[in-house]
Amino acid sequence: MGAESVPVAEAAGRVLAREIRADCDWPPFETSAMDGYAVRLEDVSSPGASLAERALPVAAGDPPPPPIAPGEAVRVMTGAAIPENTEAVIPVEQSRREQGRVRFETVPAPGAHLRRRGESIAAGMSLVLPGRRLTATDVALAAMAGADPVTVFRMPRIAIAATGNELVAAGRRPGPGQLRDSNGPMLASLCRERGWNARLESRVADDEAGVDRLFARAGSAEDLLLTTGGVSAGDFDLLPAAAARAGFEILFHGVSLRPGKPVALGRRGAALWLGLPGNPVSTAVCFHLFGREAAGRLEGDSRPAAPRVTALLSRALPAAGPRETYRDARWEIAEGVSRVEPLRSAGSHDIGAHAGANAFIRIPAGSPPLEAGARVECLLLGEVGSR
Ligand code: AMP
Ligand code: MG
Repeated sequence: MGAESVPVAEAAGRVLAREIRADCDWPPFETSAMDGYAVRLEDVSSPGASLAERALPVAAGDPPPPPIAPGEAVRVMTGAAIPENTEAVIPVEQSRREQGRVRFETVPAPGAHLRRRGESIAAGMSLVLPGRRLTATDVALAAMAGADPVTVFRMPRIAIAATGNELVAAGRRPGPGQLRDSNGPMLASLCRERGWNARLESRVADDEAGVDRLFARAGSAEDLLLTTGGVSAGDFDLLPAAAARAGFEILFHGVSLRPGKPVALGRRGAALWLGLPGNPVSTAVCFHLFGREAAGRLEGDSRPAAPRVTALLSRALPAAGPRETYRDARWEIAEGVSRVEPLRSAGSHDIGAHAGANAFIRIPAGSPPLEAGARVECLLLGEVGSR
């Protein structure tokens, strides 16, 4: 994607295109961490020292004040620039004012309550690297470094088309043999969760004319076409052949994966087509494994994948088959331990079970039965624990 500029306050969630470097130290000057008195150590070397209070206190935003004279204490507020020869700040709570003078009960440690210039960030330091999806704290760094506007990558344009003769719109009552399109709205929402504004196309019937029309215009208004259905081995699974007819190079069709085996990826020029299987859990698994990667990489995101954690299984699982398997699961940290409970699912159509999941357990191909307490790898579906 090309780059574009956005106001720093709107940059969270976007992928950074140009490195952000500190153009100044942070803090930018020596400052007080407390409301109190700036002092020289030799003037307060024993408890009960009494010093002359400078008439003019220093507030945040005032220019740096003149140095402390011998025997003088300078009243400073939190965040104020302090005299350059300040050796400690004594909090106001540990002082007592008496007729133009101020008495300190305690002896401060050298450097007490001082914030040193550059102690957090030195000018010239690299703050955020290109390829990172910006968080709120990245935005704080960018603003601190004067990066406004911020240069981010253009977002990928995504179109979603659900295919299948059986589908009716969610707002309609299905007739005999029909069912509502839930994949289209789910994919649009999964995209939106990543910040991508996907366009939902009208549903496509399982006939060559409709499918050919879809691939003829693919790529004209989008960078990535996501379809659901029509990629498995049935008589009406027309998409891979239609994509190939329309000049798409099929990069893969079929992955050793369960659910989601028929997933397909094609490319024509700059346009990508990701064909997701129609069963809703397969659609979701393939979106998290392939859709996020495809659209995220297009956008320049260096870490587009779902976050992975290890967790202890809360109940046993049978042996996996010959394909890498993803199981709906509930992951949590309970009493400091990462645990995951496999959900009971009737299969790749069981959107009810999937709706209770916040993670997939990844079971390697050919895995033996796993006992409760075994360590497994999980993909987190929400933002919990990411980055
Ligand atoms: P397919 O991959 O086209 O063979 O679809 C497999 C099954 O997934 C279909 O029989 C439907 O039950 C279901 N399905 C397909 N598309 C959708 C959709 N858009 N929304 C919900 N379920 C779907
Ligand atoms: Mg179908």
